[in-house]
Amino acid sequence: MAHITAPAPLPVLGFPAKLMPIGGSWIPSSSGQTITVINPATEQPIADVPAGTVTDGLAGLDAACAAQDAWAATPARDRADILARTYQGIIDRRDEFAALIVAEMGKPWIEAQAEVDYGAGFFRWFAESANRLHLDGQFGLEPGGNYRIAVSKRPVGPSLLITPWNFPLAMGARKIAPALAAGCTTILKPAELTPLTSMLLARVLEEAGVPAGVVNIVTTNNSREVVAAIMNDSRVRKISFTGSTQVGRALLAQAAENVMNTSMELGGNAPLIVFDDADLDQAVDGAIVAKLRNGGQSCVGANRIYLQSGIATEFTRRFTERMSATRTGNGVEPDVELGPLVDDKQVTAVSALVQDALAKGATCLTGGTTPEGTGYFYPATVLTNIPANANIRTEEIFGPVAAIYTFDTEDQAIQEANNTPYGLASYVFSQDLGRALRVADAIDAGMTGINRGVVSNPAAPFGGTKASGLGREGGTEGLEAYQETKYTGIQL
Ligand code: NAD
Repeated sequence: MAHITAPAPLPVLGFPAKLMPIGGSWIPSSSGQTITVINPATEQPIADVPAGTVTDGLAGLDAACAAQDAWAATPARDRADILARTYQGIIDRRDEFAALIVAEMGKPWIEAQAEVDYGAGFFRWFAESANRLHLDGQFGLEPGGNYRIAVSKRPVGPSLLITPWNFPLAMGARKIAPALAAGCTTILKPAELTPLTSMLLARVLEEAGVPAGVVNIVTTNNSREVVAAIMNDSRVRKISFTGSTQVGRALLAQAAENVMNTSMELGGNAPLIVFDDADLDQAVDGAIVAKLRNGGQSCVGANRIYLQSGIATEFTRRFTERMSATRTGNGVEPDVELGPLVDDKQVTAVSALVQDALAKGATCLTGGTTPEGTGYFYPATVLTNIPANANIRTEEIFGPVAAIYTFDTEDQAIQEANNTPYGLASYVFSQDLGRALRVADAIDAGMTGINRGVVSNPAAPFGGTKASGLGREGGTEGLEAYQETKYTGIQL
């Protein structure tokens, strides 16, 4: 495995350091404290952002509430125009965004650019949706013929948006774009490990004409207290959270107090099933991308690879060859396919899962040892013969570790796939479309990729069942998540 460790150039910030945008101004933390953002490939500081306090969080909420009525009253077409300009603004700064994403999160350059396009795509999609917003109502006679029923949509109101570190642009874009399209104002609390990309997004939104107070960002290393204070205020009408199931559960309990509208994009444990009749080249390509995208730090990452016995040996051989040849290093270097994990805790967690499986009798076909040296690297790893009591069978891996299992029958594959509290993504590889659709229908997950390892698309509803969450982002559902339905009974 090649391991490239050249130092990364510092990215251009494109926004004021140590300040956050609240109510149309860039302000420091009320405590004067800052958080230093670290590059996971070099372990060097990149920049500081404010360590926002409860006071700052509530200032963000005040600003969002003050701007809510005017933003809701802004014609949908004007909101759509702002979103369309934001799309273009992000695309114009593709390299600037990609450099920040690589620097603060660690993914390879080519993936960072793909994230920029994907994230920008939410602004384009929801600009198009906002233009059709007020054409979606109903007007008609009630069945008894006595009076009219009018149904329309209105914005749910000030929305608190909380994002994880793994897609620093796309996770915020997936929430801000539909919220703004629907007429909601927002307070974004990005992950403390990767707040810089959100700051550049705030700058682009300002340049696109978003009025003061419509998008407020609070960076903090005290998420629990800042978020609790905001959620305790009944003026917040929506929380949209992406992150771990554990934190999502705690936030759902807090949301209950004020009966707040909630969207929860939580953890995953995606099965990837390859049948004997799959096109093996296609299946190996799909499994590589579903496993290694973002270094495996993705909620839709292939956590469990199930191979039908007829192709198991050949698939494992080809797949392991590709995993061993993965070029690892600082994401700014050309041709790097696997960057560092986001921090040392992530390396420790992934390594612990691998060591536990090996101690219990699993076989390691490649990788499996944490490299020495600078940066939070972990190699592409393939495990087979994983015993029933290994933790990796049930936990979200969130790293470049492929866990391979075998099965004989279709029923067995479905049963194994569903044997998890999660239900986010799943993947099926088979050239028999009837079988692929049958299995996709039988898997209890919000999303299934058939013969492809990537499913995310701004035009499609992204989200999960069971412990993977509530609600959908993207598609038409993504806009509905920020709307209330209003019914008016009209006697003529
Ligand atoms: P996390 O739950 O630790 O943190 C997510 C966000 O919540 C961060 O902004 C964090 O600062 C904040 N947070 C943490 N504790 C909090 C608390 N007590 N109160 C309020 N906010 C709090 O998750 P993470 O480690 O950043 O991200 C990884 C997880 O996110 C994985 O489980 C992954 O599957 C999940 N994820 C899900 C999706 C999806 O769409 N379903 C997408 C990406 C990531």
